[in-house]
Parts: sequence; structure tokens; C-alpha cells
Amino acid sequence: MPDHPRRDPRCDILFEPVAIGPVTTRNRFYQVPHCNGMGYRDPTALAWMRGVKAEGGWGVVCTEQVEFHHTSDITPFIELRLWDDRDIPMLARMADRIHEFGSLAGIELAYNGLNAPNLYGREVPMGPSALPVMTFTYDPVQARAMTRRDIRDLRRWHRTAALRARRAGFDLVYVYAGHALTFLHHFLSRRYNQRTDEYGGSLENRVRLLKETLIDTREAVGDTCAVPCRISMDELLGPDGLEKAEAEDAIGLLAELPDLWDLALAGWENDSVTSRFGPEGGHEPFIEGVKELTTKPVVAVGRYTSPDRMVSVIRKGLVDLIGAARPSIADPFLPRKIEEGRPEDIRECIGCNICVSGDFTMSPIRCTQNPTMGEEWRKGWHPERIRPKASDRPVLVVGAGPAGLEAAQALGKRGYEVTLAERGTELGGRVNRESRLPGLSAWSRVRDYREQQLHQLASVRIYFDSALDAESVLEFGAPRVVVATGARWRRDGVGHHWTRPMPIEDDARVLSPDDLMEGTTLPRGARVVVWDDDHYYMGGLMAEVLADMGCETHYLTPACEVSTWTRATMEQHFIQKRLLEKGVKIHPFANLDAVGESGVTASCAFTGHTQEVETDAVVLVTSRVSEDRLFRDLEARAADWPEAGIESVDAIGDALAPATIAHAVYAGRRYAEALDGEGDAGDTVPFRREIAELAPLD
Ligand code: ADP
Ligand code: SF4
Repeated sequence: MPDHPRRDPRCDILFEPVAIGPVTTRNRFYQVPHCNGMGYRDPTALAWMRGVKAEGGWGVVCTEQVEFHHTSDITPFIELRLWDDRDIPMLARMADRIHEFGSLAGIELAYNGLNAPNLYGREVPMGPSALPVMTFTYDPVQARAMTRRDIRDLRRWHRTAALRARRAGFDLVYVYAGHALTFLHHFLSRRYNQRTDEYGGSLENRVRLLKETLIDTREAVGDTCAVPCRISMDELLGPDGLEKAEAEDAIGLLAELPDLWDLALAGWENDSVTSRFGPEGGHEPFIEGVKELTTKPVVAVGRYTSPDRMVSVIRKGLVDLIGAARPSIADPFLPRKIEEGRPEDIRECIGCNICVSGDFTMSPIRCTQNPTMGEEWRKGWHPERIRPKASDRPVLVVGAGPAGLEAAQALGKRGYEVTLAERGTELGGRVNRESRLPGLSAWSRVRDYREQQLHQLASVRIYFDSALDAESVLEFGAPRVVVATGARWRRDGVGHHWTRPMPIEDDARVLSPDDLMEGTTLPRGARVVVWDDDHYYMGGLMAEVLADMGCETHYLTPACEVSTWTRATMEQHFIQKRLLEKGVKIHPFANLDAVGESGVTASCAFTGHTQEVETDAVVLVTSRVSEDRLFRDLEARAADWPEAGIESVDAIGDALAPATIAHAVYAGRRYAEALDGEGDAGDTVPFRREIAELAPLD
């Protein structure tokens, strides 16, 4: 490792200890609770993931929401559970791992109530009022209104869970009232609380249960554990929901009861808004002034990755602690890098919410920027360390998109001599094109981090203007060749609906997203159809680009809504709203049957009824095709490899099979981790996993 100057003295304030009730955090870096799709299914993988954050310097590291009672489960989502003593060991493993690296462990006890369809436990859900459960999937289940006895029971269950959390070793035991995901939020918000007893009506009444739960928790564990309160500052629903002024009044009523205030927005999609729809520090207007209501420390998130910005929000008196979920996922070592005076090495979160998609797809968290996320225990990967090279045989990486860049920098860190050949004149591949689209500028950080790392690696040489063909690769004669040449958008309509090329007349004006990204423009007033059979962000973005050009834009999709997969990144609602506001005409359930010179034929996905739509141009956003010519040509010349000194040729990333940028980065890392390893022919599972222990049958 190179020598690093000491940290910038302006950042000293970030490394001051802060007392939180009976415990003290060593610095102001605070990983707030965040979901991850691992939960009770992958407890050791999860414990290791949290441990790496502690190792990377986060003074406080929290769990995700932990379901603390069997009468409230949010199946199919996979979170942690603390239903009885048998759940303690898996939580203790996490707390131990966090302590090993000198950090405090926090646990967020959650009773989702109105958000819990109870598909696993099958109990009748309950909340402040009798309402349908508020799930993303509109489950046909209603919650019953809690009686006073239910309230007493729930207080007792929370208290018991707090005691169990302490036994598991946690230092901070949350009272969770945030995100419109918990009973305490539901009681607080007029939207959900229509009670007429002492728990409903006035703010004093709606805050009563939160107050009682805080008192219960402090009495149970407050002598040794801090009791933070996570609260929503706004539901962004206007007067129909919780607004900042009322949230401040609630905080005023409870001011000194919790040991820490953790400020969030509701719902989660507003709190963890993507960079396409919200800037770094976007929460600041909602947290301004809260510190004047309490002497207790305040933490809030804001997708902060810049040390200057962190110092400024503390100096301005907005918060005491820098809360982070996503910045700590993209770079678990962010605090250490600031401490060691090398902020330029921070792998900055790009705000894409691929991490969130882990929770929504019930699969282990992955991150676009940090390919080791979720693999710390499963594969033994580490965000900052990688085993040294096991041979002196150099590697040629062809293509400098996210896959090639990650492979080159990770191989360089292992100590291999690497040549990175790029056809164009800049690093980044698809990231360069896509980060110029509206709202995606932060995505260039995928390139910037890797470029910064490559510049520090003497063993990696980069060649631009180097479009390699099979002959030149054979001539070059590197023992290992990695083909990371990417993919192009198709123009023939092949995607989910058409699995063979669709009927397109020769003189039809068909454009692909690559055309628009590479500068093709259309005249104001041109009538354009975007057909989105890809369903992630690109179709919606193409419609946005065309609307910005002044085109009459029609967005057609076989799905029920715009960019439907972005439900998993919590963006769907924002995208559809933006397109509607820009005047894009949205046609759901629409298949494209044929493209002609002056129009298209579309049909209803259900009835097959067709309609003709006049157009000047059609943008097909359906799927991509790998640029694998080089790979195929090299495979075809395998007989020439020995003479050229080539041992292996592999295609990775989009050149092998197009997917997200996160997949490409992962593919680069996977290649680099595996080189000169044991090999993986698929006969054994190449990662560790935990299998539930069978219960005795007697
Ligand atoms: P991925 O997402 O898999 O990393 P990208 O499409 O982002 O793929 O990047 C592929 C990169 O490979 C682009 O920068 C492209 O210019 C480059 N490239 C494609 N073909 C060649 C080639 N034959 N020789 C060198 N570079 C190439
Ligand atoms: Fe940030 Fe995207 Fe990584 Fe999530 S997946 S932490 S949003 S870079």
C-alpha cells in the first residue's frame, strides 16, 4: 500500500466520540439500519457484511428491521427475526462481529402491524385502525383495530424483545417509528390513526404509545443500552399525512426521552430516493431545526459521500452523526479512507438502488459499486483486500467498461501485469454513455473510482484507440485474455415478447437507445413511439429524452406500467410521474406487432385488438446483443493459442450476456478473484451457505 498523508485536519470533527445515552461511539460515522435481502436465511453472511463495515470504521453499525413478534411478519421479505430465545444466537453472532472491530451494534426492533400481511404466521394483523394492510402487493388482507389489551400486550412484547436484544449483545436498542412501516408510525400519523380513545385524535394522544414504548424500553435496558428513536419527518403527502411541523411537535413532546433521534422520511422510497430523483443532502430541509428541540444527539442520512459536506452538516448544527446506509454499502471503508487522508479512494455510491432491489427480490444484497457486498462470508471477498497473485503470467483485458475496468483494477491489486486495451479514447464504456442521460450523472462514479485506482497501479498499462481483433490478440500473446467488449441495443425488436426479429419494413425509421445516446436527434414535433420491452430504466429514459427534444412521444409497453422493474429500485412511481408531467402519452399492455415507414401496428396484450399509430420514428428498447465477435473469433482459433502463448480466453460482463452495470462489475471482480484459483467447473457450490438444522422428530 502506498503511504498516505495523515487525514485533513478539517475532518477531525468527524472522528470525535459522541455519547449516546450510556454508550459512546468512537466517531460520527453511523450506519443506520438497512435491509439487505439476507436476514434470517443468511445470518452468518449478514454478520460478516456488518462486520466489514465496523472494520471499515463505522462507529455504529445497525441491523435491518428485526421482526420482534410472530404476530407481525412481512413475508415474503426476508428480514431478521427475534421471536423467541432461539433467535438470539444469530443476532449475537452479528453483534460479536461488530464488536470485534470496536464498533457499537444497534438493533432496530420492528412490529410492522398495518404493513404485515402475516403470510407466514397467519395471525390477523393489527394496527391503530381497521384498514387493509399497506403492502406493495395489495394483499387481500385487512388489519383489525387494536384494543387497549392489544396495546398492553404489544408493549410487553416490545419490552421482552428489548431484553433479548441486550442478551444478544446489542448496545443500541431502537424504538422504531419511521418510514410508515411500523405500528408506532401508524399511531403517530393521522393518515392511519382514526382512533377515538386516548391513543387517537390529538397529537398528544397519537404520540402516547411512542412515549410509552420509549419509557418501557429505557426501563428495560436503558441502564446499559442506548435507546434511539427513528422517526419520520414527513410523509410527503401534504396535509393528508405527517408533515414536518407536526413531526417537530412530536419530537418536542418527547424531546429528552430517547438517547438519540434518528430522522427519516416516509415512505422508504422518499427516504432512499435514487440520485435520478434526489440530490446528496436532499433530507436537509426536513431535518433543519430539529437539534433545537432536543439536547440529545441527532443522526440523519442524505447519501453523503463527500467529507466536506459531512463536516459542513455537523458544523452547521444540522446533525451530530452522519447517517448512512448506501454510502456504507458502496464503501464499507469510507470512514477509514477519510481518516487515512485518502478520500479520493472512496467508492462513492451512485444512488442507483440496486442494493434495495436485493430486499425487493428477496435475494442477497448486491451493489453496483461494491462487488464484494454480500460476498464477505459466502465467497470470502473483501472490499479492500484481495489475495496476491499466484503466478507471473500477465493478463490482457479487452474493453474498458465496468467489467473490464473492475477486472483490470482488481487484477492489478493482486499484482498481475495487466494490459487494458480500449477501442475508444476514454475509460467507462456504457457508463460514459448512460451517465449523460438525464439524472444519471452520478453513475460516472463507477468509472471514476476505477480510473483513480488504476492510476495508482504501476503494473497496469492502458492503451486507447486499440480496437483489437483476433489476429492482434494472438500477436500480442498474453497468456490470459479477458474479453469485456460489452453489448449494443438491438434494432430488431427481440426481447421478452418477440423472441425472433419482429416485422420491420426496410424504410422504417428505427432507432436504438445507442443512437440517441450517441447524439441522434429528432426534430421538434416529430411523432415518436418508444416501445419498452426491456422494463428497466432505459425505456423510460428514452421517452424522457424525446420529450425534452420536443417530440410528441408515445410510450408503449406490454407491461402494466412504465419501467416496471424499477419497482425493485423504488423508482417506478417517480418515473411514471415524470413522464406524465413531461406530456408523454403512456400506453400500457401494448405489444408492437409491426413497424412500417409511417407508423406502427400495436395490439392489446390481452385481447389482441390492433390499432395503427402514425409515427416519424420508432425507438425499440427491447434487449441487447453481446459484442462477442472477438471472443467467438478467438474461440474459433483455439488451435493457434499454444503457439501464441495463450492459455485461456474468457468473455465477461455484457460481452458474455448483457445485464445491469452491477452484474458487469461483479463479473470483473469474479474473474480477478478466481484467476489462478481452484477452478470452478460447476460440480461444487462455489460459495458458503447455511442450511436450516432439522428439528428432532420426537
Ligand atoms: P461491460 O458493461 O460488460 O463492461 P461496456 O459496453 O460498458 O461493457 O464496455 C465495453 C467496452 O469495450 C467499450 O468501452 C468498448 O469501446 C470496448 N470494446 C468493444 N470492442 C472492443 C475491441 N474489439 N477492442 C477493444 N475495445 C473494445
Ligand atoms: Fe449506492 Fe447503487 Fe451501491 Fe446501492 S447499489 S449502495 S445505490 S451504488
